[in-house]
Amino acid sequence: MYDVLIIGSGPGGYVAAIRAGQCGLKVGVVEKNPLLGGCCLHVGCIPTKAMLHAADVYELFLHGAEQGIEAENVRVNWARILGRKNQIIQKHAKGLEGLFRKHKVETIHGYGKLLGKGRVEVKGPEGLREVEAKNVILATGSEARMLPGLDPDPERILTNIEILDLEQIPKSLGIIGAGAVGVEFASIYRRFGSEVTILEMLPRLVPVEDEDVSAELARQFRKQGIESRTGARVEQVEKRPECVEVEYQDADGRAQKLCVEKLLVAVGRKPNTDSIGLENTAIRADRGFVPVDPYMATAEPGVYAIGDIVAASPQLAHVASMEGLVAVGRLAGKPVRPVNYRRIPGCTYCEPQIGSVGLTEAQARKEGYPVKVGKFSFAANSKASILGSHGGFIKIVAEEKYGEILGAHIIGPQATELVCEMVTAIESEATVESMMSTIHAHPTLSEAMGDAFNAIYGLAING
Ligand SMILES: Cc1cc2nc3c(=O)[nH]c(=O)nc-3n(C[C@H](O)[C@H](O)[C@H](O)COP(=O)(O)OP(=O)(O)OC[C@H]3O[C@@H](n4cnc5c(N)ncnc54)[C@H](O)[C@@H]3O)c2cc1C
Repeated sequence: MYDVLIIGSGPGGYVAAIRAGQCGLKVGVVEKNPLLGGCCLHVGCIPTKAMLHAADVYELFLHGAEQGIEAENVRVNWARILGRKNQIIQKHAKGLEGLFRKHKVETIHGYGKLLGKGRVEVKGPEGLREVEAKNVILATGSEARMLPGLDPDPERILTNIEILDLEQIPKSLGIIGAGAVGVEFASIYRRFGSEVTILEMLPRLVPVEDEDVSAELARQFRKQGIESRTGARVEQVEKRPECVEVEYQDADGRAQKLCVEKLLVAVGRKPNTDSIGLENTAIRADRGFVPVDPYMATAEPGVYAIGDIVAASPQLAHVASMEGLVAVGRLAGKPVRPVNYRRIPGCTYCEPQIGSVGLTEAQARKEGYPVKVGKFSFAANSKASILGSHGGFIKIVAEEKYGEILGAHIIGPQATELVCEMVTAIESEATVESMMSTIHAHPTLSEAMGDAFNAIYGLAING
């Protein structure tokens, strides 16, 4: 009998498992894939960032002459880029096996299904077996959602999985969906030479971000030659011999067609909860998502849910991990704080990067806050000039009277690293005033943060 059995070994499940081991619990992880790590490690966060990094390096070489570094005949070795990505994945999957051994976490290979009352059926390579546990954590993650009536075709109509291993860089790539996944692949393939067209149904790119950030990304993508068609409603996709043809209605309601060699569908993620035995429990899923209390407990006693399957929780690896820590702390009887969903960094690793936390300006106004905004452009930051990357800005959204920091929105160089300072600031309840007197080293990108806070009162020094 396990103290806790975790179904799924993604960033939710594996982090929960290690913490359970640290708490001295007898813990098992059921994983249907031969390797640990989940979507994040194998077909999500890690491979995309490895490919984005390769695109950064390629770009640096291509434009090195501007900085006095001249390289001739710079070429992309696509097979090597994919090989390096795969090596990174393998290394970290092996690393997880080591961590599991260290923390005495048992891995049970197979497909897990709840049978009710602490019993879990595992269908594995050696057949069916039943496992008993005092507590179960569901961490089964998500998969790409398809457009209704559209079947994926591993050759030409792709999800985040197939697009990671294309034999060649496509001449043209259509992307349906301008969320994080869509814009990251746009940034990868455009920089390796594909003609990229994004079709987004909503009026702007990265629709969850602050409106100014969306506008800046659209501007920068235009400069890079990425074609963004927002307000585009896809109606039909046909596979023609010469291309994949996408019929859509544009923002003015006119019928349009797009012909591309490959089409990526990036319209959201569907929770993996269809066949995990929820019907044998008191859990009533909401369009597949599992409702939980602040400590990740479901309606079924002793069953917790974390990660991409959780209702109203952003589908991010670090959220899954923190939810895992909360669930384990709770079931182990340790003091834990529920996840504060207003303090979650959102990072999109497109070029330029986006990092944000807290409320957008529009959300803050809608919630009735008297809002003050400070904005500082990287164009006036010396480190950004040194890097040769001075597009974008930092925007701080603050409450006027007490200087509470409500949100921070960064687009530009290293935005995904810079946002971490803001997460810490908000988490430790720093105010606009305390941030104005926080010393930022010179010359750094984070100096722009100090300027953005000062800009709230028109006191930015450098701009
Ligand atoms: C292209 C892409 C890029 C992304 N980039 C980022 C990023 O940069 N940063 C970020 O924070 N997030 C990113 N995400 C999102 C991130 O991958 C997910 O939020 C995260 O993986 C969710 O973790 P999880 O533990 O809930 O599930 P998953 O990582 O999906 O893991 C679930 C695991 O459960 C296993 N499983 C499922 N059902 C069963 C079953 N019945 N029995 C046994 N095992 C089962 C699966 O095989 C899998 O290993 C990205 C996603 C995509 C698609």
